[in-house]
Order: sequence, then structure tokens, then C-alpha cells
Amino acid sequence: MTNFEALLQVQERDTAIDQLRHRRATQPERSALSVLEQRAAELEARITQTSARRDAVAARQTQLEGEVRTLDARIQELERRLYSGTVSASRELQAISAEVTSLKRRRSSVEDEVLAAMEEGEPLSRQVEALEAERDELDSESQAMRAVLAEAEVAIDAEIATESTARTGAAGAVPPELMRTYEGLRARLDGIGAARLVGSSCSGCHLVLPSAEVARVKKEPPDALVFCDQCGRILVR
Ligand SMILES: [Zn+2]
Repeated sequence: MTNFEALLQVQERDTAIDQLRHRRATQPERSALSVLEQRAAELEARITQTSARRDAVAARQTQLEGEVRTLDARIQELERRLYSGTVSASRELQAISAEVTSLKRRRSSVEDEVLAAMEEGEPLSRQVEALEAERDELDSESQAMRAVLAEAEVAIDAEIATESTARTGAAGAVPPELMRTYEGLRARLDGIGAARLVGSSCSGCHLVLPSAEVARVKKEPPDALVFCDQCGRILVR
């Protein structure tokens, strides 16, 4: 095998490795996963927001319930005094009675606020539960997707390893200087540094070479390094 045929084999392996790497980077599961993760992050934000509202309402309810207990205790204390017989002045009795009436009115209004807080809190709690269920479902979907992706990556990595070994073998037969020229061209020209001349067209740029150019190339000795004058790649004939 000539140096140039060996170089074409290196090119073939490099192209295969590039394609595998591209396939690895553009797995459909990868974009599906990022969509799922985006949705999960949005859900998480809504859960945080709704939970905070629910907790604020619950805290208000707790505070109001405390207020009701305080009013209850005060009312009971006053009623005890009212019916204990220890207070006999009617003016004082009237004053206590008036205070009890006012405290009961106040208690009734606070109890209404407790009910309002409960009514406000219930749908928020249900909303948080629904969002959490949705988030859990999304999480397990993501987990399954990650597993599929990991499996595909393992398979692609194995193919890349096989191609890399073959590439190392082929590269061993190419002189280092030719290899350097090839690598430089490959880096500049979309991953293709060497191409075969098929008939009168370059398989690197797919352009037909002028017949004078083809004649010139064919006259060169077999070990001469020839470049496509259209794309600059190493031309193997
Ligand atoms: Zn070309």
C-alpha cells in the first residue's frame, strides 16, 4: 500500500470518528432532555411561589386563631366575674356586660377572617400538590431519558474507540511529515485533508478539474505530493 492509500484510510477513519462525535452531540434525547429540564425548572419556580403564598396564608390563619383564643379567654373571665356575685354595682355590671358584647362581636369578626384564610389556603394547597405531582412525573421522565441517552452514548463511545484504534493503525503507515500536512489541511477544510481523484473530479470538493490539470497530475511520479488546485486538499490518484 502506498503512503497515500494509507492516508486515505486515515481520512476514512477520521471522517467516521467526526460523524460519531457529531451523532453523540446531537442525540435527539439530549434536546428532549433539555426541554424537560427547562419545564422542571419552571415548575419548581411556580412551586416555590405558590408554597410561599400558601404558607403566608397559613401563618395569618394561625395568628387569627391565636387571637380568637385570647378573646375567648377574656370573654370567659369577664363572664365569670359577671355571674360570680362578687360585683354588685349595676354600673360596673353594665360596663362588663357591654365589654363582653363588644368582645364577642370582635371574636365573630376574627372568626370570619379565620374562615376566609382557610378558604384562601385550601386551593393554594391543592395547587401546590398538583404542581408537585407534575414535577415528580417530569423528574421520572427525565430520569428515563437520561438512561436512554447514557446507553446510546456508551454504544457510540465503543464505536469511536474501535475507529480510533483502526485510525492509529492506519496512521502508522503514513510518514510523519505527510501526516502533519494532512492534519493542517483537515483542520482548515471541514475535516477533509485528503481526497481521491475519481475520473477527473476531486472527491474532496466534488469539482471537475480542467483536463490540462488532470493531465499534469497524472504525469507526476506516484510518490509526489499533489494538491487539488480547486480546494487545496491532498489529491490521491
Ligand atoms: Zn478539491
